[in-house]
Amino acid sequence: MSSEFSGLVAIVTGGASGIGAAIARRLRADGATVAVFDVRPEGAIADLAVEVDVTDDASVRDGVEQVVNSFGRLDIVVNNAGIGAQGDIAANGDDEWHRVWDVNVVGLARVSRAALPHLRVSPAAAIVNTSSIAATAGLPQRALYSATKGAVLSLTRAMAADHLRERIRVNAVNPGTADTPWVGRLLDAAADPTAERAALEARQPHGRLVSPDEVAAAVAYLASPAAGSTTGASIAVDGGMQELRLRPE
Ligand code: NAD
Repeated sequence: MSSEFSGLVAIVTGGASGIGAAIARRLRADGATVAVFDVRPEGAIADLAVEVDVTDDASVRDGVEQVVNSFGRLDIVVNNAGIGAQGDIAANGDDEWHRVWDVNVVGLARVSRAALPHLRVSPAAAIVNTSSIAATAGLPQRALYSATKGAVLSLTRAMAADHLRERIRVNAVNPGTADTPWVGRLLDAAADPTAERAALEARQPHGRLVSPDEVAAAVAYLASPAAGSTTGASIAVDGGMQELRLRPE
């Protein structure tokens, strides 16, 4: 077993399910002590699972304090908690805009600012944000969601610049459609989930959904000392979707 993260402490938000659970698993396998923050932490595989709602500043601050009290330090933050929204620009009213923005964008800011004082004194500080192919690809019927994920990419670059001198690296991953409970729920809502899954797979450039473990591998790299010269960057884990989407067959 590798010990790349031996002695380091990580927080993974949204770490009880899907991509976040794969990230928590991977960082632990690589030697990190991992705390999962999730609104539904039950069943999370972690060294510490805390019920944290990233839309609640007090809850976030309490969670970070609990991690530092338990393990004495904080080195890595993976801002992964996120929720979806469907439809064009007219599909959602103000309440829905505020609700999704509050989780996907302000939530990232809340966790990051609570973590900053601890990251500043870490010799191996890294933040990795989960964006999405939706940030840049112009996906149809994902206006609100795409806006939030675009903001995640912008924040990644802005934060990388702001904290360069403090040696806190900030990077992002841009997953394509990944095989998680989230996507499972969308498929289950279809009239024929099996046919819908086959159609979804066929729309991917590499003929299958992205595996959460593939996203976790990219996050582990970006969080690791091996990526010590990488900040403000993003890695696409999308089977080539970003490059191929607008090209004719
Ligand atoms: P998921 O629904 O399987 O898991 C998301 C987790 O976040 C859940 O455990 C949920 O309880 C938690 N969460 C939701 N709101 C929260 C809040 N307010 N505070 C704390 N935790 C909260 O989703 P997933 O597919 O694993 O997605 C994870 C991330 O990856 C999201 O940011 C999503 O936008 C992004 N992403 C997913 C895909 C995909 O195809 N699945 C593609 C690109 C990007």
